[in-house]
Amino acid sequence: MKYKPVIGLEIHAELKTKTKMFCDSLNDPDEKHPNINICPICLSHPGTLPTINEDAVKKVIMAGLALGCKIEKDTFFERKNYFYPDLPKGYQISQYQKPLCCGGDLKIGDKNIRITRIHLEEDAGRLYHPPGKGPDAPVGAGCYSLVDFNRAGVPLMELVTEPDLESGEEVRKFAEELQLIFRYLGVSDADMEKGQMRVEVNISLSPSTSSGQIPAVFGTKVEIKNINSIKFAADAVDYERKRQTELLESGEKVKQETRGWDEKKGETYLMRSKEEAWDYRYFPEPDLPPLHFEDNDIDNLRSKVPELPQQRRERFAKQYALPERDIELFTASKSLGDYFEHTASELLSFDKLDHLKRPGEEHQNKLFKLASNYLITELKRMLEEVYAEPADTKVSPEMLADLVVRIFHGEVSSSGAQTVLKEMFATGDMPGKIIEEKDLAQLSNVGDLEKAVDKVVADNPKAVEDLKKGSDAPLKFLI
Ligand code: ADP
Ligand code: MG
Repeated sequence: MKYKPVIGLEIHAELKTKTKMFCDSLNDPDEKHPNINICPICLSHPGTLPTINEDAVKKVIMAGLALGCKIEKDTFFERKNYFYPDLPKGYQISQYQKPLCCGGDLKIGDKNIRITRIHLEEDAGRLYHPPGKGPDAPVGAGCYSLVDFNRAGVPLMELVTEPDLESGEEVRKFAEELQLIFRYLGVSDADMEKGQMRVEVNISLSPSTSSGQIPAVFGTKVEIKNINSIKFAADAVDYERKRQTELLESGEKVKQETRGWDEKKGETYLMRSKEEAWDYRYFPEPDLPPLHFEDNDIDNLRSKVPELPQQRRERFAKQYALPERDIELFTASKSLGDYFEHTASELLSFDKLDHLKRPGEEHQNKLFKLASNYLITELKRMLEEVYAEPADTKVSPEMLADLVVRIFHGEVSSSGAQTVLKEMFATGDMPGKIIEEKDLAQLSNVGDLEKAVDKVVADNPKAVEDLKKGSDAPLKFLI
């Protein structure tokens, strides 16, 4: 490969707060009706004043702490001036000189991606262009756009990375891990389809160096916007890498420009060239006080950072000895992983089940694996069919643990267990009851089998004698 991609990301995430960034209008990403969650402040009526949403500030600091950033103890908001119909103030309150968080990193596999900064700002409204009513509408048809301000003023966190990424695959891994971290922290739902997380890709090509080394000179970068899934972000990188390689190989230059992603065509397209770049005339927001934090404030927030996805992967591997695939599922779906952990603790804590003995400690990992299998292959599918969360089902972790012990002892076969689980899911009945009612108990328990053999032998001395003498005929009878 002659050229190596150099990629940096700018990621926006809408914060999960009750109210907006500078007023008490609701921050409700699910509100479908336009212009419901609005007030004179987020509509920028003259004479209104913003106030800072403390929860939003705390959430950005939590994200910074989780990513190993340095937290800026003295900072302030700034005005970023530009005109757009979805921005009634004519400026966006943002941060420029002093972002809340600086200089963290996030590992994907063995590779470290440096984070330049995370800052806090407000989102703009949303424009809606009715089909056929755009500038190319027929004369007399009327030409207009609609604007919805529900999103105007929603707290938005912007994270910028250093240009440390090298491929679409790395972009996918980074964005997925960041999305998980935001969800674990509870700072954002980060759903890209709902626009709660937006990924902008900056990509240039440099002459190849050995992997992992940052090239001495960067090529001209192209920024790609309007990407609404992580997969599209990775696809856009792959496409752009090809486009830029072809340009360079045919002796042309890559132009610095902003491109969009056309998901139908699977191509990037020109949005604007750098000549049209804006000068935002940033200056400190005079209507808001500067922010100041004590060490104590930051330590308090640090103590609220929960276990993060990577810590969970490592703990699950140590504690439950599960295969990587299972661990990844229990990390990606925190609720499923939590459910597994409840089941595992039930497996360790129960004494005795009806007539069944508690499996010895040497069987622990086998029990965990059984629980994981039934959870991942059976229960997960049943849950997905009804769009339910594990915690909402009639099958409690105790009930699943109960079933797992029965499977372990061979009381039910694996196909029998599937039937039992289905019935548990539908009725909430205990596995023991279902096995009995549906007559699903099987005699594969070695102890039971041995007892049965002993009885047959004792009850049929003549046949046993003949067998011992060398005749095969009684064998079939005895079996
Ligand atoms: P701009 O001023 O154009 O917004 P920044 O320096 O703020 O550029 O960088 C924006 C993003 O682009 C960052 O994620 C950064 O890592 C990335 N970036 C900067 N230069 C390059 C380059 N030559 N190739 C690819 N990405 C780059
Ligand atoms: Mg920038």
